[in-house]
Amino acid sequence: MKPQFSPIFVSHGAPTIVVENSSTSDFLRHLGRDLGRPKGIVCISAHWTTAEPRVTMHPHPDTMYDFGGFSDELYSLTYPAPGDPLLAQRVLSLLRGNGIPADKDMSRGFDHGAWTPLMLMYPDADIPVIQLSVQPHLGPEHHFSVGRALKPLIDEEVLILASGSATHNLRDFFGRKLDSEPLPYAQEFAGWLTKAIVEGRTDELFDYEKRAPQALRNHPTPEHFLPIFVPMGAGGAGTLLHDAYSYGFLNMAAYHW
Ligand code: ZN
Repeated sequence: MKPQFSPIFVSHGAPTIVVENSSTSDFLRHLGRDLGRPKGIVCISAHWTTAEPRVTMHPHPDTMYDFGGFSDELYSLTYPAPGDPLLAQRVLSLLRGNGIPADKDMSRGFDHGAWTPLMLMYPDADIPVIQLSVQPHLGPEHHFSVGRALKPLIDEEVLILASGSATHNLRDFFGRKLDSEPLPYAQEFAGWLTKAIVEGRTDELFDYEKRAPQALRNHPTPEHFLPIFVPMGAGGAGTLLHDAYSYGFLNMAAYHW
């Protein structure tokens, strides 16, 4: 049996996910209730990229509106969960103790890669959250090592939550509706991904740019895919938790390990 707070990857979709009715918004609403309450959450979001891992230290992070072109309603939403400087310090010690240079960030708030899924999962915003950044130039194995370093947090009832997208080619966003038919090139990649995760083919996943079908078309830049390697490195065997499409090109898969 998996530990209660086994590490998770979710696809966050467009920021409007918090106000939409879709199978993925439903899934995320149920996920928080099903999991129960962790003591804290470490969120690895695609929307924070840095040269070296950084960890948020602010005790009361702001809600960031790091997107444009969406309805005014989204800019009135806030996610007032507290930060957790002690948990952030713990994450820094685990990373540094495993030879991974890392530093703190004293001022950053929550980007939408973090607060939109969290608003659905934990709407009361009463569980402390810290964010950990992504290093797009360092590739899958680095993020897997980050996850492996954070493994002890699972027994400390801390939820490792990665937020990205199973497929993410924004060039296909325009002109499509939330319930548009899935695009075959996205289905091809997502099918490969789930199979590789469930069968534990980690080496092939590390080499996804060469091994996965349509890899670069689905991820022209890697930041929405790399977060997946953190829970993979922290956890055990992978399982598919949810599968759906938004706008035809976004596979909204979620996994836990
Ligand atoms: Zn995103």
